[in-house]
Amino acid sequence: MKSEDSLIACITGLSEQHLVPRPDGFKLHAKASEQFDAMATAAAKEGIKLTIVSAFRSYQRQAQIWQAKLSGQRTVYDLNNQPVCLESLDTKAKLDAVLLFSALPGASRHHWGTDIDLFDAHAVANDYQPRLEPAEYQIGGPFFAMTKWLEQHASCFGFFMPYKHYQQGVAAEAWHISYAPVADQYQQQLSCQLLAECIKQNPIAEQEAVLTHLAEIYKHYVQNICR
Ligand SMILES: [Zn+2]
Repeated sequence: MKSEDSLIACITGLSEQHLVPRPDGFKLHAKASEQFDAMATAAAKEGIKLTIVSAFRSYQRQAQIWQAKLSGQRTVYDLNNQPVCLESLDTKAKLDAVLLFSALPGASRHHWGTDIDLFDAHAVANDYQPRLEPAEYQIGGPFFAMTKWLEQHASCFGFFMPYKHYQQGVAAEAWHISYAPVADQYQQQLSCQLLAECIKQNPIAEQEAVLTHLAEIYKHYVQNICR
C-alpha cells in the first residue's frame, strides 16, 4: 500500500496500523493512549477513575452497528432518549435518526484511535454497566464529578469534547473525548469524496441513499463538531 492509501485506510477504520493495544484490552493511537494514561493518573489523585468504555472501532464494526440500527435490531433513540419508530420515516429521515447517535461507517471518530467513551469507575459499583446516557453525566448523576473535572483539566492533556453541546448534528455526548493533536490532523485529511470512495468499495446498509445525501451528512454530522 502507498503511504497515502494506508493513511486513508487508518482514517476510515479499514486499517489498525496506527494503533497500539492497551493493557485494558482497548486499542488507541499511541500518543492518545499515552496522554490518556497521564490524564487518568492526574484524575486518580482527585478520586476519579477514568475508565474506557469504547475506544477504537473498525469500519466493519461500525457497519454492523449501522445495519442493526437501520433494520430495527438495535433501538434508535431521539434527543429525549425515547425510542424512534423508523418504519414511519422516509429514507433520509431514517438516516438522520440513526446519525444522531451513531456515526456513518468510515466517518466515525472512533476509527482514529483518538476518541474514547469513558466513565468514572470509582463513582459506581464494580458491576455497574455504563449506559452512556446524559443523566449519568449531568448534575445528580454518578459521573458529574468526572464531567466537571474533564471540563477543567482535559485540555491540559490535549483532549476536548467534540459533542459537548447539541448543534443540529450529533447529540450531546458528555462521555466522548477526543485527542486533538492527532484527531485534528485526521479530520483535515478526511473529505466527502474520500468517504464516498470508501463506502462504494465497502458496501453498507442504505448505501444508495447515503451516497445521494453524503454531502449534507458530511457537513451536518462529520464536520459539525464543538471545537
Ligand atoms: Zn464515542
